[in-house]
Amino acid sequence: MTKVALVTGANKGIGYAIAAGLAAGGMSVLLAARDAGRGEQAAAALRGDVHPVVLDVTDPESARAAAEHVEARFGHLDVLVNNAGITGPRGVAAVDADAVRAVFETNVFGVLTVTNALLPLLRRAPSARIVNLSSSVGSFGRTTDPESPFASLPPSATYPASKAALNALTVHYAKELRGTGILVNAADPGGTATDMTRAWGYRLDRSPARAATIVVRLATLGPDGPTGGFFDENGQVPW
Ligand code: NAP
Repeated sequence: MTKVALVTGANKGIGYAIAAGLAAGGMSVLLAARDAGRGEQAAAALRGDVHPVVLDVTDPESARAAAEHVEARFGHLDVLVNNAGITGPRGVAAVDADAVRAVFETNVFGVLTVTNALLPLLRRAPSARIVNLSSSVGSFGRTTDPESPFASLPPSATYPASKAALNALTVHYAKELRGTGILVNAADPGGTATDMTRAWGYRLDRSPARAATIVVRLATLGPDGPTGGFFDENGQVPW
């Protein structure tokens, strides 16, 4: 039976490349985007069985409607990729708590909202996989290692803290779902040339297609694959 995958924030960047990669592997892909027009345009540009679906991860009603859409069309879900993400201002002492809250709303609470809305459909699949898009900036190991380039990045209470919280959420989903056949992991796609990093002023060479490879690998793990882990293309990332 053809597997069904849903990728959030898939109208551009790494999410779009993940949708392309999963569709190229033969899955039916629900390309989720918060804006209907952007989602339709992106889905139409991809090869394979790709369907746009509207999903704003910060809106529980939107997540519920997307889950109903998936249920009506496919009856189950094999792969959920929580890719949608935003950044926030740098700094800690001068940052307003509302700025932190806004980033957590998408990067953490959005993942919880979408995952919980889709879990009943994931439980119906024989061996579902959940992949959460994290980052090395959310790794305590890398951020506190003076030898790591991540130790010298500017302090921030927003994006890095949200990815650390997402890592914790990943571990606890894996704990709760142990024994169900559902494997849950966090992926670090690596510093990649997208609108997100361009907005930070970074000029990076890494393509979204390359960034997507670790995500596609975790989305297609065999039955003996890991759960509750954090991986980049080179292997395990320290928490
Ligand atoms: P991007 O190009 O800025 O794309 C972000 C995507 O998320 C867009 O499709 C955006 O939709 C969507 N999105 C934002 N808020 C949303 C919401 N409330 N509901 C639904 N979709 C929403 O970013 P990217 O670089 O591809 O990042 C993708 C993921 O990888 C993120 O989780 C990011 O933290 C992670 N990551 C990126 C890098 C990197 O170097 N780029 C490194 C590590 C981790 P709109 O087009 O409508 O805004």
